[in-house]
Amino acid sequence: MSEESCKIVVVGSGSVGKSCLTLRYLQSKFVEDYDPTIEESYRKMVIIDQEPTLLEVLDTAGQDEYRSIRDKYFQTGEGFIIVYSVTSDPSFVEAKNFHQTLQRIKEYCYTPVITVGNKADLENERRITYQQGQELSSSFKSKFMETSAKTGMNVPQCFEELVREIRKWKKKLNQD
Ligand code: GDP
Ligand code: MG
Repeated sequence: MSEESCKIVVVGSGSVGKSCLTLRYLQSKFVEDYDPTIEESYRKMVIIDQEPTLLEVLDTAGQDEYRSIRDKYFQTGEGFIIVYSVTSDPSFVEAKNFHQTLQRIKEYCYTPVITVGNKADLENERRITYQQGQELSSSFKSKFMETSAKTGMNVPQCFEELVREIRKWKKKLNQD
């Protein structure tokens, strides 16, 4: 039996928590000081809705000088987690840019995306409201979640929702 797999790419500005979200989900730990320059991909078998899936997660590090590399992972990714930090206005603006680049590379075809406002535990430092996040996300036609890689809030949920979106999308592609 051929195994289902899902290629997920985690994108967003530096220090929004891409690595922490990835490691929290795949290794159930919170790493306070993960090297921001490391771009790493992970493979893990997970069971979501009783169905096994081989997840391949690319935790990007967004060095812009490697534009061709970035374009490449946008091309090969099947689903994207676009992360901003609720404590950072620039990261919120950047999220829009990531989405635009993604759209361009996917030639404006539907692509499964989850928009994530991370660091929701830092309520005192919050700059972006839940509603602003929701509005941005609906402009992308994506699902939206606020997460905390620190407390673990909504972390499995965002990966699982994306896998569901990827599955739906693949089913649809196979029918057409
Ligand atoms: P990346 O550059 O997007 O991969 O960001 P990292 O995952 O390396 O995280 C950057 C910094 O933010 C680190 O110091 C983390 O400890 C911190 N951080 C990441 N996620 C959270 C979170 O949900 N809550 C809090 N309070 N800090 C976080
Ligand atoms: Mg990182």
